[in-house]
Amino acid sequence: MKFHIWILAALFSVPAFAAQQDLQLPPNLQQGQLVVGHAPRGVKIEYGGRRLRVGDDGVFVFGIDRDAPPQIKLHVRYSNGKGRDQLVAVAKREYHIERIEGLPQKTVKPDPETAKKIRAELARVSEAKHRDDAREDFLAGFRLPVEDARISGVFGSQRIDNGVPQSPHAGLDMAVPTGTPVHAPAAGVVSLADPDMILTGGTVLIDHGYGLSSALIHMSRLDVKTGDRIAAGQVIGLSGATGRASGPHVHWGFSWFDVRLDPALLSKPVAAANESGDP
Ligand SMILES: [Zn+2]
Repeated sequence: MKFHIWILAALFSVPAFAAQQDLQLPPNLQQGQLVVGHAPRGVKIEYGGRRLRVGDDGVFVFGIDRDAPPQIKLHVRYSNGKGRDQLVAVAKREYHIERIEGLPQKTVKPDPETAKKIRAELARVSEAKHRDDAREDFLAGFRLPVEDARISGVFGSQRIDNGVPQSPHAGLDMAVPTGTPVHAPAAGVVSLADPDMILTGGTVLIDHGYGLSSALIHMSRLDVKTGDRIAAGQVIGLSGATGRASGPHVHWGFSWFDVRLDPALLSKPVAAANESGDP
């Protein structure tokens, strides 16, 4: 399946209009999806134990976990003090099992010293993902970091690396030769840039605002540094096969804080949700 078909399909899904006091949410939500909604003025929203940021424009976001139940609950509190729960249906997805061989063994079964380094690196990544900036860079939508690439790995697959079961695959893999320019999927601020991490190799995290981050990993060269403000589509470095990779590809991971989401579900509905606006 080609990515542009998904984008076309997504373009036609416009958020449902509901009563003015209700939250506006896109229809047909599924596991692993980023949700961009609109709330009436003065509304407070909680989801998954977290108070959501609601912009002056009423925009709020949250992410639906890979393994979310068929129904999730948003708690809504209005400016008049009244509260209610809004139940939201979530479609279940089927995930693949992927077996990958030929990975560097230290990235699959690390020795104690390497394991310690990996834990320290993951802590830095987690810290970068927990920023909660008021910027709304995500509203302009997202593009693929590389054009015309074969999709070589999808979100959510159960991974068995060199025969060892691992966490599910948390991103979209695009097979491209080493040295292919990698573009920022959307504008943002570089929250972490490290040319040499054990699992992820050359790593760039981009904070798009509201707790949303892109991770571009396995890169052979980085052209940005932590703290850089970058534009949508800007080249942030070159692809490679660094870290836990069996061949050259770009892995695009996307998350809402530490909830990993499917980049293949990102596209124009984000902007459409914005344009629908509040009454
Ligand atoms: Zn990957």
